[in-house]
This record gives sequence, structure tokens and C-alpha cells, in this order.
Amino acid sequence: MKYEQGSSFAQKMDEADPLKAFRVRFDMPADKNGGKALYFCGNSLGAKPKNLSPALKEHLDIWAQRGVYGYQEWLPIYTRATKGLAALSGAKETEVVAMSTLSANLHHMMISFYNPTPERYKILYESNAFPSDSYVIASQIDMTGKKLTHFTGKKQSAFTRENAMIELRPRKGEATLRTEDIEKTIDEQGDSIALILIGGNNFYTGQTFDMERITKKGHEKGCVVGFDLAHSIGNVELKLHDWGVDFACWCSYKYLNSGPGAVAAIFIHERHHNNRDLPRLMGWWANRPETRFEMRQEIDAYTTAEAWQFSNVPVLTFLPLLASLDIFMEAGMKNILEKSRKLTGYMEFLLDSLETDKFKIITPRDPARRGAQLSIVVQENGKQVFDALAAAGVIGDWRNPDCIRLTPAPLYNSYEDVYKCVEIFAGALSSIKGGESAH
Ligand SMILES: *Cc1c(COP(=O)(O)O)cnc(C)c1O
Repeated sequence: MKYEQGSSFAQKMDEADPLKAFRVRFDMPADKNGGKALYFCGNSLGAKPKNLSPALKEHLDIWAQRGVYGYQEWLPIYTRATKGLAALSGAKETEVVAMSTLSANLHHMMISFYNPTPERYKILYESNAFPSDSYVIASQIDMTGKKLTHFTGKKQSAFTRENAMIELRPRKGEATLRTEDIEKTIDEQGDSIALILIGGNNFYTGQTFDMERITKKGHEKGCVVGFDLAHSIGNVELKLHDWGVDFACWCSYKYLNSGPGAVAAIFIHERHHNNRDLPRLMGWWANRPETRFEMRQEIDAYTTAEAWQFSNVPVLTFLPLLASLDIFMEAGMKNILEKSRKLTGYMEFLLDSLETDKFKIITPRDPARRGAQLSIVVQENGKQVFDALAAAGVIGDWRNPDCIRLTPAPLYNSYEDVYKCVEIFAGALSSIKGGESAH
């Protein structure tokens, strides 16, 4: 793609954009002055789909008017997400189910897929993982280690977070991980690794990991391989089934635009569905619907990923997911990815042409190794630059100590948004002097 300077190029691109009609399907947040913001925060909370409000009203009315009879609509409602989730994650429909929230599902998956033995008890993860993921991993290790200790009556924990968590760190002077380094770690330490659990995309740098190669290498060494796809779902191409990934989890309020705390989802590869040796937490929603209300003492479980469900579906946080998936299916992931590459590439082009060393893009330059996000490390007074962006109506995301993350979301951001955003960024950079104290 060849980009050009000037706002007329942005306008030309917007006119030719096959997805241009989708922008008005979202409510765009206001800036501080009451105008429309330039919204570049879709990696944190996606914009609200307009088709959600009538759906919510419909189901509140069903509740109001029909009470418990509303379950005729609500019992099967979760199946309406299956097709879209399978399409976006590259799964079979039997391998995905929307349920619960991301951190809870990570724990849930680790109950099934972290099965330490004396020789193989470690977990490989990213050094700069999203904090919730490191807390989940550390607490799972502690819990499992302690339970084993109590059981055997030993004084010392079988293993602890100190000896069971292995971090993947970028090389000195580099911001992102090299696939060959990840493979090398797996080669060298794989025999003691029970589980590899990393993001599909790193939340901070935006790096897309080579999930296919990591899964292959992990399996060669006998490790279970799972991914947290919080920043990948709806953002990059996924082929979880074909890659042979064991399990994955994601939330749906980032690129999937399903609103704060919306219902999350899990993927479990079909080869695990009937493995009775896997420990599994169960609730009544793991029971097949045909016999669920016979209220049997013994569970009659699904033979799909649905067997990992616990509870009846949280309908009101489910509706936003359905509204959003409808939009994704209508727009088509192929079109979304194509525009995404161009839009982020355009932002990168404009930033590069500012030709200054006041900032550095740490997101991978290769479009195949990133989605809709650029992480910009500002060398000096980054927070002031960020505050100036916010004051001018750009909603982005700040990460201490020096990083601004901007997300050009292909469903609702335009080329003109990107053009204006970079123009404001350039103004902020030049108005804030380098060398001053940031305090
Ligand atoms: C956003 C995000 C979370 C958030 O977890 P919740 O349980 O939804 O609050 C966890 N992990 C990663 C990698 C994330 O990006």
C-alpha cells in the first residue's frame, strides 16, 4: 500500500472504503468540549454498537411482561453467539462457548489444563503480561502447590511461583519477543514445562505472537499450550482449531465492542472434549439441555466445549456480544482485517514522516505481527503529550512510564480520524519541550 501526505489522501481513502457505512452503526464518545472525540481506545473498550439499545429494551420488556416465561427466549440464547465466535477464532462451533469473564475463565481453564507432575510443573508466560494473567498464574501455582503439600503432609510446598514461573523476556534493547527465542526457551526447558500460557497479542506492545509455531513447538516438547486472546479476538486472524491450540480465553469488550464487563468466551480443542481424565469444574449448565431440568443427581454432560459452562447465561451482558457479532459477521472478518492493516499502516506512515527522535514506535513493523494498535514510546514528558492529546479530543490510552497506545479500529475509525490524530500528536510534541521535568 502506498500512502500519501495531506488530508485529501485521507478523504480519498474514506470515500473508497468498503466498510465506510459501518462507522455510523456506533455511538462515538464525546470529547471534553462536547464535540465528537477522535476515539482510539478500542483496545481497552470498544465503541458502543447502536443496535444494542433496541435489543436490550426488547429483553427488558420480555422480563417485565413475561417474567419466568421469558426463559423460552433466554435458554437457547447463548447458541446465537456460537457461529460468530467460531468464525472469529477459527474454531469449530463445538469448540467455543461464551461464558463468565476473562480472569475467571483463565482460572477455569487452568483447573483443567494445568496438571503438574514432579518433573513437569512449570508455566511459561510473558514477562510483560497483562497483570491479571500473572496473578492468575501465580495463584494457580500457589494453590496447586499448597494442596499437594497438604495432601502429602510435607512441610515444604511442592512448588511455588518462584520456581515454577518462567518468564519470556525480550532481548536487551528490544521491546518485543522473537519467535526463535520463544522456541529456544521451549526447546531448552520444555521437559519441565506443564503449560505455556501467553497472550495472542501482547497488550502493551501490540505484538502478535506466532501462535501456530509456538503451539507446534510446545506440543513437540509435550507441553499444553493456551492463549489469552483479549487483544486478538476481532483484531487479528485466528485459526485455533487448525493450529491445534489446546485452549484459549478472551474478553469481548475490547476489539469486540461488547461493553464493559461483557460476557467472555472460551475455546477448547475438540480433542479434549471427551477426555475424562481432565479435571473439570462443573455446574448445572454443563448438563445437556435435553435432561437438565430432570434435575438428576448425576450430570449428563455435553460432549462439547459447552460442558465447561457453570451457570445460566447472563442474558443482559450477553446481548451486547450478540449485537456486536452481528456487525462483525455482516462486515466480514476478511474486510475488517484488510482495512485494519491499511489504517494502522497509514498511522505508522504519518508518524514516521514526522521525522523526529522524540518518540519511537515499539509495535512490530511487520503488519503480520500486529493488529490495530501502535504503541508509541515518548522519550520525554510523555504524560504531558498524552494530556495534550486528550485536551484536543483524542481518546487514547496511557501506560506508565512513557507509552501512548493508539488503536485505529477498522469498524468505526476513518482515515481522516487518523490524519487528524497524528496532526494533533505532532502539535503536542512540538509544543511540549524536551528536557523539562515531567512533574
Ligand atoms: C483486558 C485483559 C484482561 C482483563 O480481565 P477481566 O477478567 O476481563 O477483567 C485480562 N488479561 C488480558 C491479557 C487482558 O488484555
